[in-house]
Amino acid sequence: MREIILREIEDEVPVEAFTPPFCPNPRCREHTRDLKSGPSDERWFYRHGRYGTDAFGAVPRFRCRRCGRGFGRQTFRVDYYAKRVIDYRELFQLLVACSSTRDICRTVGCSTGTTANRIERLARQAVAMHGDALMKVCIDEPVVVDGFENFAVSKFFPNNVNILTGAETQFLYDFDYRTIRRSGQMTAIQKLIRKKLERLYRADRQALVKGFTALLDSLMSIPRRSYSIRLRTDCKTEYRRAIESNRHYRLLEKARVIVHERTPSTEPRTRHNKLFAVNYLDRQFRKDLKECVRRTVCFGRNICNVMQRMVVYRMYHNHFKAFRHRNPGPTHGSMAALDERWVSLRLSRLFGWREFPSRTILNPSDRAVWMRELVTPLKSGAEYLPKFAWY
Ligand SMILES: [Zn+2]
Repeated sequence: MREIILREIEDEVPVEAFTPPFCPNPRCREHTRDLKSGPSDERWFYRHGRYGTDAFGAVPRFRCRRCGRGFGRQTFRVDYYAKRVIDYRELFQLLVACSSTRDICRTVGCSTGTTANRIERLARQAVAMHGDALMKVCIDEPVVVDGFENFAVSKFFPNNVNILTGAETQFLYDFDYRTIRRSGQMTAIQKLIRKKLERLYRADRQALVKGFTALLDSLMSIPRRSYSIRLRTDCKTEYRRAIESNRHYRLLEKARVIVHERTPSTEPRTRHNKLFAVNYLDRQFRKDLKECVRRTVCFGRNICNVMQRMVVYRMYHNHFKAFRHRNPGPTHGSMAALDERWVSLRLSRLFGWREFPSRTILNPSDRAVWMRELVTPLKSGAEYLPKFAWY
């Protein structure tokens, strides 16, 4: 178990002594030069005064010699453009301990809008770190895919979050969100309401097939050690349909690059079940994330916010939570052979220093979360995305 209260190394550097690590302009050569060839020796920037703020005091300003772009120390902070300081570590701790948005507001002393805004910033940080982590892991185990079912907006809009996890390490590699059509037993009135609502929003009939295919795409992009991928799922027909209807995956299965093992979901849900990793994660979501608790009134109202909370929880599961509660040593990340020093360094910066999408590789499902591209049923108008989230 990793301590959530991590020391922020850069806080030891006085604000006045801060030097920008790169130019924030994504079109400038100095934006990614440090990633390609290490820190630059030449002085690519010069100091350009300072400005005063109520929340952060005097903020030093700089100007890039290469592109002429002006920027300040705050440009590199998670709190860029924020007017109020909220402790991200406290927020994180509350979120993964089954607190609702209102609970967090009461504890932290802010509005629901501010809480949602800070969780959004934290989610981008978590997504960027995960993108880099996926470049460093190497799959050396069977993987398990299964859907976690919940609802958002109303019970007439159930959803399926397909989870891709390691069978042995339980490292959460990826997930994919799809709104699905409500089915099962309904009263005559409920059927009528569904019919009316479907005039406004109708879930894609192929949602499960498309969601599973998206996860297969993601799986193929993660480095792996062996030739074959042992893919474990339950017996949902959509999984077979996704493989058989796609020529690429059909050929990969024929060449035994993908070995699909199916386990009936009626099998006892014990440690020996081949789908144990996803059964375990289902349980964790149900008890740790407020909107996933059965019969809760704190269900998600916005799909982008739902998935932002989910990616923050993924970071907690992979890098903070112990692999086994009784053995508080390794995390799921260290079980997946992630370099612990790298993880600690990233986490020590995560709650303070802003990640830039132009300096990291995001997988498609995480990019949709970052860019708030997921569609909320019945919501009119586009999701608001601050301009700085693009760069
Ligand atoms: Zn520049």
